[in-house]
Amino acid sequence: MNRINLLPKSIFELIAAGEVVERPASVIKELVENSIDSGANKITVEIQNGGIRYMRVTDNGCGIYKDDIERAFTSHATSKISSADDLEKIFTLGFRGEALASISAVSRVELLTKTEDDFSGSRYEISAGESSAVEDAGCPDGTTIIVRDLFYNTPARMKFLKKDVSEGNLVSGIIEKIAVSHPDISFKFIRDGKQVLFTPGNNDLLTACEAVFGKDFTKDLIEVNSVINSIKVSGYVSHPFSSRATRSMQNFFVNGRYIRNKTIYAALEEAYKGSIMVGKHPYCVLFLELPFDTVDVNVHPAKTEVRFSDEKRIFDSVYYAVKNVIDSDVKRPEFKVEKINPITLHKDYREKSDEQLKIYQQIIEETAKSDKVEIKSPREDISVSDDIPNLVNLNDYKQIKTEEPIKQEISIKTEKDNDDFKVIGEAFNTYILVEQGEKILLIDKHAAHERMLYEQLKSNSSLEGTQLLMNPVNVTLSKEEYTAVTENLSLLKEVGFVAEDFGSGSVIVRECPVDLSVEEVKDFLNEIAGYLLKNKKDLVTEKQDWVLHNIACRAAVKGGNITSEYERNKFVEKLLSMPEIRYCPHGRPVVIEITKYSLEKQFGRIQ
Ligand code: ADP
Ligand code: MG
Repeated sequence: MNRINLLPKSIFELIAAGEVVERPASVIKELVENSIDSGANKITVEIQNGGIRYMRVTDNGCGIYKDDIERAFTSHATSKISSADDLEKIFTLGFRGEALASISAVSRVELLTKTEDDFSGSRYEISAGESSAVEDAGCPDGTTIIVRDLFYNTPARMKFLKKDVSEGNLVSGIIEKIAVSHPDISFKFIRDGKQVLFTPGNNDLLTACEAVFGKDFTKDLIEVNSVINSIKVSGYVSHPFSSRATRSMQNFFVNGRYIRNKTIYAALEEAYKGSIMVGKHPYCVLFLELPFDTVDVNVHPAKTEVRFSDEKRIFDSVYYAVKNVIDSDVKRPEFKVEKINPITLHKDYREKSDEQLKIYQQIIEETAKSDKVEIKSPREDISVSDDIPNLVNLNDYKQIKTEEPIKQEISIKTEKDNDDFKVIGEAFNTYILVEQGEKILLIDKHAAHERMLYEQLKSNSSLEGTQLLMNPVNVTLSKEEYTAVTENLSLLKEVGFVAEDFGSGSVIVRECPVDLSVEEVKDFLNEIAGYLLKNKKDLVTEKQDWVLHNIACRAAVKGGNITSEYERNKFVEKLLSMPEIRYCPHGRPVVIEITKYSLEKQFGRIQ
């Protein structure tokens, strides 16, 4: 056995660096977090070559005292913890006094800093443990740290880095998350000489989200703000109709830190079930604030995965916070016009067009004033030529911006849509057309019916809605199915099936939901058995939901066609009194609306 040696400081720090400094993005994360801790309200990040060659973080925070500079770069040096009582901060916020020491062990670091109290600023350089003396330098209050040539002295680590572009994208991702979670700080990100992100730091979450994720992200959001189980959940979630194909825009922050966690993702998705198209995903920026001791301490602070001591509590808080707001919002999907073929206008109509008259008028006025006939059209989609007899270029007139779907401002309403309505008729024996206020509603009859029945079933999923079977139905099942069904008898009872174990592989059904016809009982129980067997792991609520969906579907078929005008009116009245209904249990939309505004726009009546 060899004798035991204490590792030299330089080697020890290299090992520690492996934990904190994995790639440029982890350096940026540590430096920006330090800047935030310094009280800065302006932070600039600049990188070149994905950060591998050059990274700079500049802040206007408190700066570092001259005498503290060298200490800041030694391991376990921190101004943020002074006693064991602060220990929880170490795990939740990542204060471990290791970042600067680790970064300077594997790169060339230059520091410029000045506190308000110091007359002049300081400059300091350190790389792989070799440092310069602290010297005076002119610089503004705050701190700039420049990190050059990451992993220049650890080629093995260098090999694990991806291409510049990928490393740069990871840095971008980190800055986006940090910027969104600190709307009170103005962030600027410069990548290879180009400014690619800027947030104003006006303390408004929506503005920060728009600056970071774009207008498309912010235009259809609903605010969330609730405290459930002493967990505060706040931020924004997407409207059910404005979903995405992937989960990539689901942003969660726990106690200010961006995290990924399966329970939270599941709670969000579950809250949208029945309100969103199947296969689509909601998006969000949600902040959870919870007691420090409920976040698992074994998880590394530099990583984004966290564990919670009470998963169910977290699930419920997110689920109900989101579910409450989406259920109370009645905004419907908008009718999207993909493209309209140009329509040739008859000369007579053309001359009567208000738009054209306006342009004619303007041209006449302008020509009277000067001899230069160069007039700007009042509408960008109508061009004006200088040839007076052919003033309006009809081609342009015809198109009226047909490329983009018509967008409109719809204010978010939380009250029910129970204004007067008029049923216009029914198209293709499928869609009921309803005029209501300033819009036309297109209702998918079957989807709506199914969903209404489902809601009804759900609200009295007790024994009230059952019928006693004159002749109880005996259903013989396979061995596995039999086990699955007999294990779930109480669940079946909840949804209206009173069945008993009849021994030797069969069950007997004594009561079933009223919405089901007696002939269907056997068939349906077989179907339920198949489902229970295949989806053993589903939650009880999921199993119940499945059964209710399927009863609703069968009942809707049984309900058949709505034929009379009276029935149709009653049906629409009932549907409109249930504004929470937007999608059928299978996730297809129930109602689509066309606003008068969008039609007028389409027909060129308004600009
Ligand atoms: P920690 O952040 O865990 O304290 P670091 O190694 O990241 O450890 O930083 C060490 C110390 O250096 C900090 O505690 C802080 O006092 C100081 N420091 C680092 N960056 C800045 C900054 N941008 N502005 C002011 N002080 C800073
Ligand atoms: Mg730090």
